[in-house]
Amino acid sequence: MHLRKRILVTGGGGFLGSHLCARLLADGCDVLCVDNFFTGAKDNILGLLSDPHFELMRHDVTFPLYVEVDEIYNLACPASPVHYQFDAVQTTKTSVHGAINMLGLARRTKAKILQASTSEVYGDPEVDPQPESYLGRVNAIGPRACYDEGKRCAETLFFDYHRQHDTSIRVARIFNTYGPRMHPNDGRVVSNFIVRALNGEPLVLYGDGSQTRSFCYVDDLIEGLVRLMKAPDSVTGPINLGNPQQITIRELAERTIALTGSDSSLVTGPLPADDPARRRPDIELARETLDWQPMVALDDGLERTIAYFRERF
Ligand code: NAD
Ligand code: UDP
Repeated sequence: MHLRKRILVTGGGGFLGSHLCARLLADGCDVLCVDNFFTGAKDNILGLLSDPHFELMRHDVTFPLYVEVDEIYNLACPASPVHYQFDAVQTTKTSVHGAINMLGLARRTKAKILQASTSEVYGDPEVDPQPESYLGRVNAIGPRACYDEGKRCAETLFFDYHRQHDTSIRVARIFNTYGPRMHPNDGRVVSNFIVRALNGEPLVLYGDGSQTRSFCYVDDLIEGLVRLMKAPDSVTGPINLGNPQQITIRELAERTIALTGSDSSLVTGPLPADDPARRRPDIELARETLDWQPMVALDDGLERTIAYFRERF
């Protein structure tokens, strides 16, 4: 008989995973963090290691895992374009084999399982904002495909396990999220801009900086994931989680410079292949079914993230 819920977080040593582990411990759960530390870092979970209800296991989710748990958050997968394109085949394997292994575990233990999917399943979208019903425009053979198609296939597997084996699933489509513990060199735009601004180096706009993104602060996102897991089994998703406030990358650069008080300049560089021109979540479904919406304004979240980077780098 277990009084505390036993929760597995794959990718728990990463940016989002480490925040989720901390949140679940604070909620009174036993947390098993599984990570191969490809992009994660022990530093992210250093503060949790002394908690007797926290356990760390070095393991690659492309291999089967036999543990006893009540809930699984499947976050293992490199998330930044630089990291997921570094070993593209391994990225697809992590999403697809990782999903099969974790779904197998969920089926055997009858655990609820949540998949960290992504707005990238929409590809370079023709509609703005993107609702869950939009089927997407993904290039199956481009440099982002290992991530996008891997995540799409993982969603397919989740829904097939649900239909075929009655597995209790939750699929969250996460939009760009930022905050403390982002990897300083993973190439994502918020960390790139802050690190460069703090070092007085030029901020590089890929293309002309007119492409848009919508940035969600990490605490808001974690709240959304926890609410989705707690929702009734009928709430399978897919469900968008993100901040609907959309800005151009040029505006983000200007705000980062203003908030850091930096004298960095803006320069332009080549636009990567298949870089989506716009991205903004339609979050009506999350509002209705989870009573969830982001609470942290962009400037507040950027200030907290800048403070984190200022202290460390
Ligand atoms: P991250 O790179 O910081 O974390 C990913 C973690 O997974 C790392 O700790 C890494 O070491 C681990 N990992 C990678 N491959 C693994 C494997 N084969 N076995 C075990 N562990 C493995 O990225 P993040 O931003 O924290 O993203 C977490 C999840 O959320 C990912 O699945 C990502 O696709 C999804 N997501 C994130 C965002 C975002 O903006 N942060 C947006 C959409 C989706
Ligand atoms: N970007 C940029 N300069 C940088 C890093 C990224 O202009 O130093 C752009 C990138 O081309 C994309 C957007 O910022 O249009 C967001 O990039 P990121 O890698 O953070 O995530 P994506 O949403 O593309 O997965």
